[in-house]
Amino acid sequence: MNRGRAISDILEAKDHPLLSVEFFPPKDDAGGDLIVQTALDLKQQVQPDFVSITYGAGGTTQERTYRYARILRDKYGFEVMPHFTCVGNSKAEVIDLVGQYWKDGFSNLMTLRGDPPKGETDFKPHPDGCHYASELVELLHENFPDLCMGVAAYPEVHPQAVSPEDDLKYLKRKVDNGASFATTQLFFDNRNYFAFVDKARALGIDAPIIPGLMPIRSAKQARRFCDHIPEELDDMLNKAGDDKAAIHRVGVEWCFRQIQELLEGGAPGVHLYIMNRSKMAIELANRLREAGLWQPAATV
Ligand SMILES: Cc1cc2nc3c(=O)[nH]c(=O)nc-3n(C[C@H](O)[C@H](O)[C@H](O)COP(=O)(O)OP(=O)(O)OC[C@H]3O[C@@H](n4cnc5c(N)ncnc54)[C@H](O)[C@@H]3O)c2cc1C
Repeated sequence: MNRGRAISDILEAKDHPLLSVEFFPPKDDAGGDLIVQTALDLKQQVQPDFVSITYGAGGTTQERTYRYARILRDKYGFEVMPHFTCVGNSKAEVIDLVGQYWKDGFSNLMTLRGDPPKGETDFKPHPDGCHYASELVELLHENFPDLCMGVAAYPEVHPQAVSPEDDLKYLKRKVDNGASFATTQLFFDNRNYFAFVDKARALGIDAPIIPGLMPIRSAKQARRFCDHIPEELDDMLNKAGDDKAAIHRVGVEWCFRQIQELLEGGAPGVHLYIMNRSKMAIELANRLREAGLWQPAATV
């Protein structure tokens, strides 16, 4: 069994900015066809540094996350980071489940508290489980000291956080407990990312903070995912109206501008929330290559 490369090693090498993409496990056959076609397109036309695969809210996709993590790695040769949450498992079960990933050669895990199941508002920890991601990171670091863990970060503050300062304090705890890097929730205003990174550094959080970006595919979706839309983007979306091709152009243009500014401002790379679709990721990767901002690791 070949063990995959730890993302922390790729980040430490600093030979090129990282480009990664996020998949979610499909619910049905049509979704399954889409994810494998997207994986193929990305393998041939982008070659991201790694891909991640989410874990359904309420812990609903444990088996499918594992299955697609294997497919993305074994069939397409991606470095894969499965996501894992505290939801629904005791600490002993967590160790078993993550132990399976570790035995199978996975080196990376996105380590999260998770959201409550659909229809519930409060997160209810398993009676013998972890209450917060920082506890999960601590438990996994003790049991799998060489596992490379990413954690979530919120430039626009986690909705349940008591305050932005508290939220950052708990991010620090996740890093102090063994996380190697953080990936952010999506945002459309880079100023929030840069301000957040400055505050994190001032607090002594020195782990890389990878910005998570979503190329906009629909104005409604963008507004649902993110409270803060910069005025210029809002105007661009309003002008595009219901014209799908125009929205697509705005989505690629805004995301490209965000990436350019983020990389020039020192971000270690970008993680794209692609909603299991390849088209915008391919366009972005092509533009980044043309602008000399990114190239696949194999060509570095
Ligand atoms: C990059 C990324 C990937 C994600 N992937 C998934 C996924 O695959 N599946 C999924 O279900 N969800 C996913 N999420 C969403 C995430 O699970 C939710 O945002 C969840 O509500 C919080 O998870 P967390 O790991 O940030 O939790 P925590 O870091 O535990 O924070 C949760 C809340 O509790 C507060 N807090 C933390 N520690 C303490 C403490 N000791 N005392 C009091 N308050 C505390 C924090 O300020 C925050 O408000 C993802 C989010 C991001 C940014």
